[in-house]
Amino acid sequence: MSKPLPNASDFLPGPVLLLGAPGVGKGTQAKHLVDEFGIPQISTGDLLRENRKNHTPLGMMAEELMSKGLFVPDDLVNQMVAGRLKEPDTQHGYILDGFPRTLIQAEWLDSQLVAYLLPVVAVNIVVPIEVLKQRITGRRISPAGRIYNIYTNPPKVEGVCDVDGSKLEQRSDDTEEVFHERMKAFEQKTSAVIEYYRTHGNRFAEVNGDQEIDLVTKDIRATLLKLRHHPEA
Ligand code: AMP
Repeated sequence: MSKPLPNASDFLPGPVLLLGAPGVGKGTQAKHLVDEFGIPQISTGDLLRENRKNHTPLGMMAEELMSKGLFVPDDLVNQMVAGRLKEPDTQHGYILDGFPRTLIQAEWLDSQLVAYLLPVVAVNIVVPIEVLKQRITGRRISPAGRIYNIYTNPPKVEGVCDVDGSKLEQRSDDTEEVFHERMKAFEQKTSAVIEYYRTHGNRFAEVNGDQEIDLVTKDIRATLLKLRHHPEA
C-alpha cells in the first residue's frame, strides 16, 4: 500500500495525463489515484461508451468507429472533454485517461489549459506488446465494472462475477482482430503524443506497467510528487 499523504491539502495533483497503449492499465491506475487524491477520472473511452449506451448522436456516430478500433474524430472528442472539464469537480485537478490520443487533441488541450493553475504532468505507462494482447483479449467485465482476465485473474466460475454473480462480458473491441487495429492506431497517432510530452517541458515520466498493480500505483504516485516538486518525493 502507498503511504498516505502527510496532508492532502498541501499536495495538489492538478491535471494528470495517463498515457500508454490500450491495456497498459490507465483505467485501473486512474481509479487508484481518484481514491487517493479525490480528483475525478475523465476517461474518453468511458464517456463515449456512456454516449453509446444512451444512444446520443455522438454515441451513435462513435459506435462503428469504436467497434473497428478506429479513433473518433478529434473535434467531437475535444468537445466532449471541454464539456466535462467545465464541471466543478475538476477545479483541483483531474486524471485524463485515454486523452489526448492525437497531436491535435494534445494541442487543443494545451490551449484549454492556459488559464489553469498548474501545467499538466504526463505519465507514460509502458508494457510489452505480448502482455497487452493477453490483457486485452482476456479481459472480461461485470456490469458493475469489475474486471477479470481469463488468463491471469479468472473468476471462480467461468463467465460469472465472483462478487455479485452477474454475467461477465467482453468489450466488443477487445477481440484479437480489433486489438491489432487499436495497436495500429496507437502506433500511428498516439506515439507522437508521447513524444510531444517527452520533449515539451520537464513534466513527463515513464513508469513500468508490467508489475503488480499496487507497485505501478506506487511508482505513479512517487512520479507525481516528483514532477510536482513535492518535498515528500
Ligand atoms: P479506451 O476505452 O480508452 O480503450 O477507448 C475505446 C475506444 O474509444 C477507442 O478505441 C477509440 O475508438 C475511442 N476513443 C477513446 N478515446 C479517444 C480519443 N481520445 N480520441 C479518439 N477516439 C477515442
